[in-house]
Amino acid sequence: MAVEWREHHERVQAATDRMSKGVAALHESLCPADARPLDPHGQCHACGRVFRLSSNVAPAKKPEMTPKEQAAWWARYDRRPQTKPTTLTDEEAAQAQLQAEFWDRHDRRRAEREAKAAERGQERKKPTPTTLVEQAADLVRTGRG
Ligand SMILES: [Zn+2]
Repeated sequence: MAVEWREHHERVQAATDRMSKGVAALHESLCPADARPLDPHGQCHACGRVFRLSSNVAPAKKPEMTPKEQAAWWARYDRRPQTKPTTLTDEEAAQAQLQAEFWDRHDRRRAEREAKAAERGQERKKPTPTTLVEQAADLVRTGRG
């Protein structure tokens, strides 16, 4: 059994409040889809979506940053190295070719299997059996079951 002092409880509560505010601020400042920082207008520069920033959470960006500094920061952020275009070596190109051929064959075989299965399904579909009502009507009409 834990003995909890009032002072201790208050200290833990204060720490929790600080932390959850920090988490809320962090959560508010990131794009929920790709976790990239949102710009001051709430726009994600990765996916272009805009998220409403709630006013009760302070922006995570340092308040001492002037608008000019922020613009510079975003300019740097946008200039960051992008993933470089891939140029394949001859060996990699050959591998890619082999893989493409493999998936071509794979897709073709699957299409063939599916076509055959569909064919079998067609064969199995015999003329629909007469319903009980139709059988009864036949019986009444012809006197035979
Ligand atoms: Zn995004």
